Amino acid sequence: MGSNLKNKKHLFFDLDDTLWDFEKNSSQVLEKLFFEFELDKKLKTNFINFYFTYKETNSLLWQQYGKKEIDKSYLRNHRFNLTFKKFNYDNYNENLRVTEEYLNQSPKGKHLKESCIETLDYLDKHYKLHIITNGFKEVQSIKIDNCGLKNYFDTIIISEEHNLTKPDEKIFRLAENFAKTTKEECVMIGDNFESDIIGAINSGWDAIYFTEKNPENFSGKNISNLKELQTIF
Ligand SMILES: [Mg+2]
Repeated sequence: MGSNLKNKKHLFFDLDDTLWDFEKNSSQVLEKLFFEFELDKKLKTNFINFYFTYKETNSLLWQQYGKKEIDKSYLRNHRFNLTFKKFNYDNYNENLRVTEEYLNQSPKGKHLKESCIETLDYLDKHYKLHIITNGFKEVQSIKIDNCGLKNYFDTIIISEEHNLTKPDEKIFRLAENFAKTTKEECVMIGDNFESDIIGAINSGWDAIYFTEKNPENFSGKNISNLKELQTIF
């Protein structure tokens, strides 16, 4: 750290909740499905409780997936039923129908993080831009194609296509190879401290932590709005 970020050549972005507003796009679809499937009556709870329980369940499954303890189909086919069960409701088939609708609808969401496009327009003039995202190929590519992001990026690495996930150093090495560059010229910008920031720093890259909260125990560069990148670069 400490090098002049303006001299970098390649900026690598995370996708979910860094460029694409996952929280907003995902919660809107979940709220719609919650009432369409009458989960308020079946689970005897409100949407907010359901949503936070789902997020907690999903995040634990993603951690297990990252450690290769479970596979993609287990993650997808059980996360709603595991959430249901926390409200004493168990319906595997209905869980599969919710999953199907969720996977079909949520990647089509078009909400981007604030100042995303104006910042990419600015950065695109001076730097090569790339994406490294942990996620499933069919979902992540629909998001990128649908919301007007695709043309800004030289290379797009979707973890599933390479069987590697951030923070594994190998995915950062792969990204350097794809971009035909070296670690000294690379910066990672992302909202996940472990995957994006620690992963990048351990790979010898600079990193910018995108977080709306004030990060404790982090002395590196951080931003709370993408717009701030226009003064850093
Ligand atoms: Mg993210």
